[in-house]
Amino acid sequence: MFKAELIDQVARFRSADGDGERNLQGCPALVLNADYTPLSYYPLSLWPWQTAIKAVFLDRVDIVESYDREVHSPSLDMKIPSVIALRQYVKQTEFPAFTRFNVFLRDHFTCQYCGSGESLTFDHVIPRRLGGKTTWENIASACAPCNMKKGGRTPKQARMKSVNPIRPTSWQLQEKGRGFPPHYLHETWRDWLYWDIELEE
Ligand SMILES: [Zn+2]
Repeated sequence: MFKAELIDQVARFRSADGDGERNLQGCPALVLNADYTPLSYYPLSLWPWQTAIKAVFLDRVDIVESYDREVHSPSLDMKIPSVIALRQYVKQTEFPAFTRFNVFLRDHFTCQYCGSGESLTFDHVIPRRLGGKTTWENIASACAPCNMKKGGRTPKQARMKSVNPIRPTSWQLQEKGRGFPPHYLHETWRDWLYWDIELEE
């Protein structure tokens, strides 16, 4: 059968127990890179089941683990993949994008001055009026009260803790992301995520 036909079949897959499309939304596949490490930790790399099955038919991924649930098409039954691995390694860019989310992630979603996780904002460590730039090295997560207290001053002038933000590598940011597991983890994902492993000394 041609791939195009197979892919067309995917569109016709239905849940085995007849509870329809809706409950299958709860069966995403964890996507691993070709080296079997998660493509992304935070947000966790997950594909909807249709995308995962399509990628299987296109020979782009290998199925590593499956759900117990099956889907049926007129000519094929298959278990829904729960963990898949890309056949071709996707190289991560060396440095992540400079976005609000990534700055918060770098700073563990906490104020760099007092450690609070409430009402987070961004602070120019060297204030703009003193020539401070909007860069990885000059932006720190700060709670609103600390930001207010600091005003247009340097940390030293405001007698606050000195902070030295860095431009993280993608790898460093991924490591940070591991600290934030999502609310739901399917049991077949755990072996690939290492969130629940405690290191012994
Ligand atoms: Zn604060």
